[in-house]
Amino acid sequence: MSDLAATMDWAKGGGLVPLVVQHAHDGRVLMLGYTNRAALEETLATGEVHFWSRSRQRIWRKGETSGHVLALVSLAADCDGDALLCQAIPKGPTCHRGTASCFDGDAPAHAWLNELEALIDARGSADPATSYVARLLAAPPARRGQKVGEEGVEVAIAAASGSDEALVGEAADLVFHLLVLLRGRGLALADVVGELARRHRRSSVATVDVGA
Ligand SMILES: [Zn+2]
Repeated sequence: MSDLAATMDWAKGGGLVPLVVQHAHDGRVLMLGYTNRAALEETLATGEVHFWSRSRQRIWRKGETSGHVLALVSLAADCDGDALLCQAIPKGPTCHRGTASCFDGDAPAHAWLNELEALIDARGSADPATSYVARLLAAPPARRGQKVGEEGVEVAIAAASGSDEALVGEAADLVFHLLVLLRGRGLALADVVGELARRHRRSSVATVDVGA
């Protein structure tokens, strides 16, 4: 990414290029801003996404007042170097309206998992007397394991003899309790997805090896 600024076509847009920010985990588009070379270099140097504010005519670090920064994961130029795609992890809502994205409309279904994780995270510090999640997280780890085991059995039973509706309901319970169990260990769904991706890459490489 370090040579990125040098490869961009800054002339075409009068020194600015549009920068699309995408959630690094679920691919949801979070916002669109503009960057100039200096703002891009700030982004690369700090690991937090910076923009050029056209209204204020200055570099703007996203989240500088709200605290809702965008932690940089990757940056890539498009085919002809006049736009950038940025993958980031948002720390809080990206939009000033308090929504996850500046674009309304349905997020991809799996994007909801990130919101659910954030909710579980928030409930962790709630009162166990009133919050089921707080109660589960305050319990010994074996309790969370037991819940995942029970829900797993219910999924198996629904798969063997239940309706699709029952299976989806039990699977939702299982995923929910799995997220709570991971959270209890300080882990997240991203850790699991990352492992699945690594396995896929390993098996792809192995297939190529066998073929060659
Ligand atoms: Zn917005």
